[in-house]
Amino acid sequence: MGRRPRAEGEEGALAPTGVPAPGQDAPEPAADCALCPRLKAFRDENRIAYPDFFNAPVPSFGPEDARLLIVGLAPGLKGANRTGRPFTGDYAGDLLYGTLLELGFAEGQYEARADDGLRLVDCMITNAVRCVPPKNKPIGAEIKRCRAYLEARIAALPRLRIIMALGRIAHETTLTALGERRADHGFAHGARHALACGLVLVDSYHCSRYNTNTGRLTKPMFRAVLVAIRAELAGRDTGLVARR
Ligand code: SF4
Repeated sequence: MGRRPRAEGEEGALAPTGVPAPGQDAPEPAADCALCPRLKAFRDENRIAYPDFFNAPVPSFGPEDARLLIVGLAPGLKGANRTGRPFTGDYAGDLLYGTLLELGFAEGQYEARADDGLRLVDCMITNAVRCVPPKNKPIGAEIKRCRAYLEARIAALPRLRIIMALGRIAHETTLTALGERRADHGFAHGARHALACGLVLVDSYHCSRYNTNTGRLTKPMFRAVLVAIRAELAGRDTGLVARR
């Protein structure tokens, strides 16, 4: 695939300067990862305020032989940060998991909790930033630090073919993680980017309640992107708009 590790100090490098390197064999952060002081402090506050919540970096969910990786932004305070599974327990999860079930990327029943027995099929879900950020807004330094885990996550998926980016931040950090030039691949809902590394990047607006409430993203729009991804995995024409 040509996915290369980068040198320290290079944009998107595995080891942000001055902090321990997670390493390519550690695609999931430790529960006490403290690389982002602001997020660690928020996590500590939440452990007091919500002692029953997961309150740790939320690990990726799905099989290691997945050909599709879905990259979201970050855990929601009372969604994934509460349940410990990406997109589980908030509105975005209702739309995402409902669509994945409908299209055969998941089996079982989604009940908005981590122990509902739901299984992903040929699909893994992760977040660009693994810890819940205040007001759902990670800052640039946090996105950059956690990119080490995204890069390691991608490198640890031997059959990976397609990455679906939910929103512009996921799109941009994925490009950097893969060593692609952001200027060559603008974000657009429904865009398909054939990357130099051999992977395909497909964009969607984030399936957040805000985006659906404002009409930016509808259920049919979201479903259509995953239908196209299903077609691409089956070797059929996707109908997506190709973007360089
Ligand atoms: S966001 Fe990522 S890098 Fe930052 S503390 Fe959490 S797991 Fe560590």
